[in-house]
Amino acid sequence: MSDTYKGDILIVDDTPENLRFLSKTLSEQHYKVRSVTDGTMALTVAQSAPLDLILLDIKMPEMNGYEVCERLKAMEVTQDIPVIFLSALDDQLDKVKAFQVGGIDYITKPFQLEEVLARIQTHIALKMATQQILALNTDLEQRVKQRTLQLEKEIAERQIAQEKLLHMALHDALTELPNRTLFMKRLAQVLDHAKKNQDYTFSVMLLDCDHFKVVNDSLGHLVGDQLLIAVARRIEGCLGPSSMLARLGGDEFTILLEEDTKTGQKAIQVAKRIQSELTYPFQLGCQENFTNVSVGVVLGDRNYEKPEHLLRDADAAMYQAKAQGKACFKIFDSAMHHHAVTRLQMETDLRRAIERKEFQVYYQPIIDLQTEKVVGCEALVRWPHPTLNLLNPNVFLPTAEEAGLIDKIDILVLQKACSQIKQWQTQNVISEVFFVSTNLSAQNFLHPDLVQTIENILCVTGVKGHCLKLEITENTIMKNAQVANAILAQLKTQDIIISIDDFGTGYSSLSYLNNFPVDSLKIDRSFVTEINDLSTEYSNLKITQTIIALAEHLHLSTVAEGIETREQLKKLQQLGCNYGQGFYFSHPLTAEKMLQFLG
Ligand code: C2E
Ligand code: CA
Ligand code: CA
Repeated sequence: MSDTYKGDILIVDDTPENLRFLSKTLSEQHYKVRSVTDGTMALTVAQSAPLDLILLDIKMPEMNGYEVCERLKAMEVTQDIPVIFLSALDDQLDKVKAFQVGGIDYITKPFQLEEVLARIQTHIALKMATQQILALNTDLEQRVKQRTLQLEKEIAERQIAQEKLLHMALHDALTELPNRTLFMKRLAQVLDHAKKNQDYTFSVMLLDCDHFKVVNDSLGHLVGDQLLIAVARRIEGCLGPSSMLARLGGDEFTILLEEDTKTGQKAIQVAKRIQSELTYPFQLGCQENFTNVSVGVVLGDRNYEKPEHLLRDADAAMYQAKAQGKACFKIFDSAMHHHAVTRLQMETDLRRAIERKEFQVYYQPIIDLQTEKVVGCEALVRWPHPTLNLLNPNVFLPTAEEAGLIDKIDILVLQKACSQIKQWQTQNVISEVFFVSTNLSAQNFLHPDLVQTIENILCVTGVKGHCLKLEITENTIMKNAQVANAILAQLKTQDIIISIDDFGTGYSSLSYLNNFPVDSLKIDRSFVTEINDLSTEYSNLKITQTIIALAEHLHLSTVAEGIETREQLKKLQQLGCNYGQGFYFSHPLTAEKMLQFLG
């Protein structure tokens, strides 16, 4: 559109002079002009060409201007084109009709040039303004529509994001299972429901993978993760619709079983099914892996106050199941509750006792069976518990071991025993070769700092290596055969004496002994106690005999534990056992009593 272009105009007039005059004048004024001489043509042009204005003669043969205008206004494409009527002065101009049929103005002939131009200009400007307003309006509507759409999209996106966040907050990312939070919510609802409906029963199962740590440590976390996913899927496959499986974290899963029987029949069935399904291997990459689960079950008693307590008790039951061996299940009873509470209390007390070094060491004399003279002693830990009197190790060591605290206790005992030996040496109440035996737990034996720690203790106390005997159970050594050999070799470089404790109760693989740098065997008390009972075919006597013969052959010394009677002593002397300890000679004694015993 050129700068000077002012608009498209159609002139309709049956008088050629009029047409010519108007056409010329308007063209000079930069209007684009078309002209026709009758109504029919006017309608045709108006429908096909874009027009800004029509100048329409009223008096025409065939179809007069009013009719043409009426038709124009009746058609959608032409109805908005402004129409200005042209009328001769002598014509009877019906102004009312002119406006009725849709005209917007009229010009009378003969034409006054300025008037014609002014009216045309005004109407075209008016039309253009109207068009502009219309366009603006449409544009505005469009924008409002777009903005609305965008807002709707944003709201939808936000909703999706929120749902995602909510899902993440309530699900475990690895297995996609509900997590602890969601499980506890559901459990709270179910417990609440059970409180209101006496007939409603449910149960909670807690599952812990056996040996999972081994997979993680040996094959890496990635394989561990894959195994967990596979386990989750397999457990899922064992569950019906009225149960919820969740991952509590680590290798622990939990199941909520609704509508179980009062005795937990459903839980028992499910546990058996899961454990049987898990006996099949998991194919992860190119290797097969195995894991099963220990299961603790708690019956949904509505007397429970909080959902956490249900989980706590399922955990206690699971713990008992683990203690029974792998892939077992146990239903919680109140004895377990008591056990769990005591155990927890014991653990707390133990931590405090370790911090305050509250342990005492008792010494049990070890006697040379030929001379019947005391040649050493075994250091045995005691715990003067603040409220429970003096505790024996079998009461608290299992808890200490489970809680990973036993190595600290062992070291405390080792320190005390070594300073005690040094003190007796300085007091000249024992000879240069008098030894003290201390017990070493598996945890401690495998501790990477063990050798260094013992070296430091010997150095600080000034005790020679050959005065220290370490008692290690055969299970500890056999279960870690390769590392054991290296550790024992290192200890031997310091002349420390190595003794295998509880010999005969563990692997009892006599042939391996040759492979380890050990010095001494401790014949377990169970053989000594019944050494004179010959009723069984393979009697304790025979076993003891075999052990002693084997030890002699391998140049190992033998120490018999738990000698309580003169007969037992006699027998052991006959068999050639080197050393012995037991109530027959002495109970374990405090340091002061031991001093008296030595004197
Ligand atoms: P153990 O190594 O077999 O120690 C010998 C246990 O037998 C001691 O029990 C001792 O009091 C008991 N005993 C000794 N003579 C007789 C007897 O004639 N008859 C009977 N019935 N028992 C006798 P204690 O002191 O209760 O220790 C139990 C176990 O606790 C020990 O068995 C040992 O395995 C462990 N233990 C003790 N102190 C420590 C320690 O400092 N560290 C570690 N890791 N374990 C320890
Ligand atoms: Ca021992
Ligand atoms: Ca023993």
